[in-house]
Amino acid sequence: MKKIALLGSTGSIGQNTLELVDLHPEKFEITSLAAGSNADLLEKQCLKYRPHLAAMSDRKAAERLSGKLSGIGQKTVVAPGIEGLTEAACCSEADVVVSAISGAAGLIPTFQALKNGKQVALANKEVLVMAGSLIMPMIRDGKGSIIPVDSEHSAVHQCLGNTPMGEVQRIILTASGGPFIDFTAKQLEDVTVAEALQHPTWDMGRKITVDSATLMNKGLEVIEAHHLFQVESSRIDVIVHPQSIVHSLVQFADGTMLAQMGITDMKIPLLYALTYPERIDARLPGLDLSRLPEISFRNPDLERFPCLELAYQALEEGGTATAVLNAANEVSVDAFLDGIIPFTSIPAIIEKVLGRLPRQAASSLEMVLEADNTARIMAAEAVRNS
Ligand code: MG
Repeated sequence: MKKIALLGSTGSIGQNTLELVDLHPEKFEITSLAAGSNADLLEKQCLKYRPHLAAMSDRKAAERLSGKLSGIGQKTVVAPGIEGLTEAACCSEADVVVSAISGAAGLIPTFQALKNGKQVALANKEVLVMAGSLIMPMIRDGKGSIIPVDSEHSAVHQCLGNTPMGEVQRIILTASGGPFIDFTAKQLEDVTVAEALQHPTWDMGRKITVDSATLMNKGLEVIEAHHLFQVESSRIDVIVHPQSIVHSLVQFADGTMLAQMGITDMKIPLLYALTYPERIDARLPGLDLSRLPEISFRNPDLERFPCLELAYQALEEGGTATAVLNAANEVSVDAFLDGIIPFTSIPAIIEKVLGRLPRQAASSLEMVLEADNTARIMAAEAVRNS
């Protein structure tokens, strides 16, 4: 029986994790749940999975949940705020922590879980984008471990096996390209929020779906891959593959390429991360090779989708630059989702913030959080002035 601490239980990845628990109740058990502000859904989850602890980052929502649960005599302890999320992540009974809180909010609880030696199934890429240079040395020193849930990194993890990185030439991340891959620069100026949320192949949360449309998602994934696999950015390529059948590839020293293929369902990389090194039945249909569409690959257009280039630049700069990139992106994506700025202002604002903030070493979590905070203020100002 594997005991799971689930951070982000009301989100898309969180709900997929609970579906896997339902499929394999003999294998998985929930010890703690953590969410943001959706008290109604978390209450339902608490009643069904009976965790020891339920955390909510929104204190008012935590109060509401606590009232609801004690009203019906449920013993789950409710913990509020970021301390509550961290308590849920460090829960002593948990064998594995699923880190699926969207955005920078997941950083502190995930960092603390790793520090406490936990095995983390990592779905939140922002954790490594912001603090990979602090986290990876910790893991090398034997503290905690990460199995990626992001489908591309799960694919690379599977293709690599135990191959030493010296025998790897390149990592190739595939990108669906999002809904606007064939739009002209002019057309991109007028796209709506509803259009940006129509992802052609994956069903995901709102923030990541917009990131897929700008290609920032792929930029963040390049940074994530750099940290996870300890490969310099010049050996990480991105290729647009609109059918999302090949989830990523590795090219080895002899030129051989291994690709991982599958249907587009996040339950598959999630299950892999939960059961690694074993594999169990996902109870999902496999790919039917005889019915596949034609598979195509092409290079991304960095002129129309500058977010990808900005991510490579921030990774090259190092230090807190990737935390700044991430913060400016979160603020601009929120502003776009709220209808305040057009789609094409997202990269413009990120570029502005990256250019204005001085580079600093990311030598502690505090410095990373400070850079994140300053970048958010600057990005919010740029949104107001745009
Ligand atoms: Mg991905």
